[in-house]
Amino acid sequence: MNTGREIVDRARSEARSVLTEIEAKELLKQAGISVVDTKLATSKEEVISISEQLGFPIVLKIASPDVVHKSDAGGVKLGLKTPRQVGKAYDDILKAIKKQYPEAKIQGVSVQKMARPGVEVIIGMSKDAQFGPVLMFGLGGILVEILKDVSFRIVPLTKRDAREMIREIKGYPLLEGYRGQEPVDVANLEELVLKVSDFIEQSPEVEELDLNPIFAYSDGAVAVDARVILGEG
Ligand code: ADP
Ligand code: MG
Repeated sequence: MNTGREIVDRARSEARSVLTEIEAKELLKQAGISVVDTKLATSKEEVISISEQLGFPIVLKIASPDVVHKSDAGGVKLGLKTPRQVGKAYDDILKAIKKQYPEAKIQGVSVQKMARPGVEVIIGMSKDAQFGPVLMFGLGGILVEILKDVSFRIVPLTKRDAREMIREIKGYPLLEGYRGQEPVDVANLEELVLKVSDFIEQSPEVEELDLNPIFAYSDGAVAVDARVILGEG
């Protein structure tokens, strides 16, 4: 397993500022942030054998620092139930990416288990010229994309910041269990926000972070996608 330092050094030695999903998840996992276990495969045989180890259903995604929005490019295949479906999805992903991004450097394909459905939330970090790192919290999907229902706090966050920033979004009732939905473990989300704040404080080289989406459950939460951009730090 690569240490955080090695992951960052490797990206820098390749003159890259974007970490792949796998690299980003590895960094976050080392910081105690819950992510879906994700492995890199570089051949069809490997994609199938890793899928069999992890257990179906499986998700495959393109692993390339040049493809930032993976699903827009046909680079994400969800809910694959058999080795045969996994093999076909592998071919389809590579074909779609090579067509749309002929110049992209492809590391391989990431393999992960299909996470059970939860309420999608996002945590992001960007750096403000005046305030430095700022964390963002919001509900995933269209709520953030169209309605911009998000809250912000400056890093480092206090426990109170974490509590407040989750509760002040308009969509908060969705987390409390709207119309018979199971309520989300909000205390766990508060801890997650604080862990991300700690991670950012300890990682000045991280310029931007995007956990989008995180699936929140009644008994915890897990990030299924992660993006890290490195800066000077
Ligand atoms: P990108 O944001 O680069 O398009 P994502 O990794 O976020 O790609 O995948 C797109 C969508 O697929 C996510 O928003 C999520 O709804 C779903 N998804 C991704 N990974 C998983 C997973 N492991 N389990 C279940 N759903 C997933
Ligand atoms: Mg995403």
